[in-house]
Amino acid sequence: MKSLHLRAGRDKSVKRRHPWIFSGAIERVDGEPANGESVLVKDAGGQPLAVAAWSPHSQIQARVWSFDSGTRIEKSFFESTLKKAIQLRHSLPASQHSNALRLVHGESDGLPGLIIDRYADVLVAQFLSAGADHWREAILDALVAETGCDAVFERSDAEVRVLEGLQPRIGFARVNREAKRCAIVEHGLHFRVDVEDGQTTGFFLDQRDNRQRIRALARGREVLDAFSYTGGFSLAALAGGARQVTAVESSVPALEVARENVQANAMDLSRISFEQADVFAYQRLLRDRGASFDMVILDPPKFAPTAAQVKNAARAYKDINLMAFKLLRPGGLLATFSCSGGISAELFQSIVAGAAADAGADAKIIERFCAAADHPVALGFPEGDYLKGLLLVRT
Ligand code: SAH
Repeated sequence: MKSLHLRAGRDKSVKRRHPWIFSGAIERVDGEPANGESVLVKDAGGQPLAVAAWSPHSQIQARVWSFDSGTRIEKSFFESTLKKAIQLRHSLPASQHSNALRLVHGESDGLPGLIIDRYADVLVAQFLSAGADHWREAILDALVAETGCDAVFERSDAEVRVLEGLQPRIGFARVNREAKRCAIVEHGLHFRVDVEDGQTTGFFLDQRDNRQRIRALARGREVLDAFSYTGGFSLAALAGGARQVTAVESSVPALEVARENVQANAMDLSRISFEQADVFAYQRLLRDRGASFDMVILDPPKFAPTAAQVKNAARAYKDINLMAFKLLRPGGLLATFSCSGGISAELFQSIVAGAAADAGADAKIIERFCAAADHPVALGFPEGDYLKGLLLVRT
């Protein structure tokens, strides 16, 4: 096998089982491996440490497939690794409550750059690294064999692919089936998922448990669901007995699906209003109108995908949280989230604390949120812990 030699003193991260090898840690690469080809990773003394996929275009120049340097990266490796990931999902309580689960969560499932979500009988695949893309056919075959789903839609259109030197690829990779309205059930609620044109793979499965918490807390409350997408939190709140829900979202197609979702559950459309608007502006409009709520949910998109955008992102988080506190009645609940990799849980909490202080609001944390268990976090890969949230009560 071709080999990658780490610089002296730069092997600690691999030894701690972190799967990313940055260009600065690499002394040299022997044998001119192709994009995505496997390389044996060795420390400065020539000791083999791991097997990784070579990705020359990226800052992350290699991603580890296995920390056992004797592992052969071939079809059977993907069969057994996928099997393990899928077995874990079968053992989770969520599999009893939903037919939509994340089956493979990239690095944390030992498959860097690979995301697989299952929506009823359709799989959605994202090949986001050179290594995952290199093994695409073997992975697709193994997936179909392991899940019994014959339809696989590929959504390899995330921007990170550009960094890996890969072109976007969208469309059915296996058996073509209508996938603009996949019907899924989550804790008894029906959702339609637009796998072909929806955001990311079509639905935000990571928020499943948090939607359940909102459902349990919503009774009798007037709710503002900001950044509502297709109404995940809105429907949960309605199912939990919310008095009235205002869902704010900028995307017209997302709101269209949200309306269909309300109807799919035979819910009363008069208890929800959909506002196609920019949340930043709409919160101000609500304040100027003197509106107030008993529950506010803030689930914005990634304002800071990486550390480089942290400063602007912090300002944006502070702004929406400050306005949320102003719109919250005493005794009201704020469920506020960040899915930005660049914003740590500590930083997020301090931004929210600053927002409350500037709004002149006293608030307490009564719960913390994270991603559902089908989005595990490998201990060696803290970056996998991207979703954080706080449930606060305004006192
Ligand atoms: N809470 C949702 C997921 C939200 S994803 C769920 O559980 O399913 C973030 C959403 O914010 C996306 O739908 C995106 O279209 C929307 N969005 C992004 N910027 C926005 C803005 N400035 N104003 C309103 N919506 C915005």
